[in-house]
Amino acid sequence: MRDEQIDATITPNRIASLAQKVFAGHKLTHDEGLWLFSLESTADIFTLLSWANRIREHFKGNKVHLCSIVNVKAGGCSENCKFCAQSAAYQTDSPRYGLVDLPPVMNAADEAKQNGVTAVGLVAAWRGLEEGPVLDQICDQLEEMKNSGKTRPDASLGIIKNPRVAQRLKAAGLECYGHNLESSRRFYPEVCSSHTYEERIETISHLKAAGIKICSGGIIGMGETREDRCDLAFSLREVGANVVPINILNPIEGTPMGDSKTRESISPLEILKTIACFRFILPKQEIMIAGGRTVNLRDLQSMIFMAGASALMVGNYLTTLNQPVDKDLQMLKDLGLDPNWDKHGFSDQDENCGSGCGCSTAAEETPACEPAMA
Ligand code: SF4
Repeated sequence: MRDEQIDATITPNRIASLAQKVFAGHKLTHDEGLWLFSLESTADIFTLLSWANRIREHFKGNKVHLCSIVNVKAGGCSENCKFCAQSAAYQTDSPRYGLVDLPPVMNAADEAKQNGVTAVGLVAAWRGLEEGPVLDQICDQLEEMKNSGKTRPDASLGIIKNPRVAQRLKAAGLECYGHNLESSRRFYPEVCSSHTYEERIETISHLKAAGIKICSGGIIGMGETREDRCDLAFSLREVGANVVPINILNPIEGTPMGDSKTRESISPLEILKTIACFRFILPKQEIMIAGGRTVNLRDLQSMIFMAGASALMVGNYLTTLNQPVDKDLQMLKDLGLDPNWDKHGFSDQDENCGSGCGCSTAAEETPACEPAMA
């Protein structure tokens, strides 16, 4: 009887000690991360969520970063990402149009201001961005949005090979660029063959060199293993992602990953566990739940914050629908979370531990600040 009681505490104690390691400003090792991803029982997963929630509260308080996107060029993409409705390689019902003029971009900015959304990302379905008239037009749109003061202009415009492109974007007022790694390096060839993992990492390095913050994450539920998810989290830590979007595959008919009848979807508890593991591995980053949230999590959506998420993509996604923004805002209010992120910006990640404890050193370097423990 005594042995059973002791056994029942081993896993919760190990989860707690890894959380204490994170609070103390130390980084999890790959083996420790993988052990968290391997947790199976519902009881252990709920213990994990509870600690991930404390880590989120410690580093992020009750602030939540809201983002939305506007598709400035849709469909007909030359790339072959197997999850994507916008690839020209697949037959889907997704809309197609060329680069839009300013009005739809400013409409998105108006809507963002109305809803208190921190940032709007200009997103385009194409391989990448080079110098020329398209870059000029994109920079004009970024400048207009920035000068309007309505919201922060972000962008996700594909591969950048030329460092001057990143510098132009920065000069136009871009603060943060979205460029997902999608999955682990090992699994990536199952996702896309028209460009490489290395090209994605190279793009991120050009952006960082230009002083642009990085929004980079991936998609789960594509058939990857837990180890692939763990490797993705560590790769994101290595590239220095500031915001980490986690998308959950929403199979789109016509794409190679679109057969929802034969494809086993990832369970809501596995999704929540993945978010929590990311929070342990990436304690100070904004972990943002993006595409596939509503369809995959269903009634468990609000638990993403208990699992450690600190950011939310609101409004519709590129090719699928989300729940209405006012429903999301109500959910945040009901949870006691504050979407007013402005005073809790990127600088918190760079300049202190983000806990509001007053320390002025990055958390990796200071074991001194104590988390608010109940
Ligand atoms: S994910 Fe982006 S790069 Fe890949 S096919 Fe879709 S639009 Fe093109």
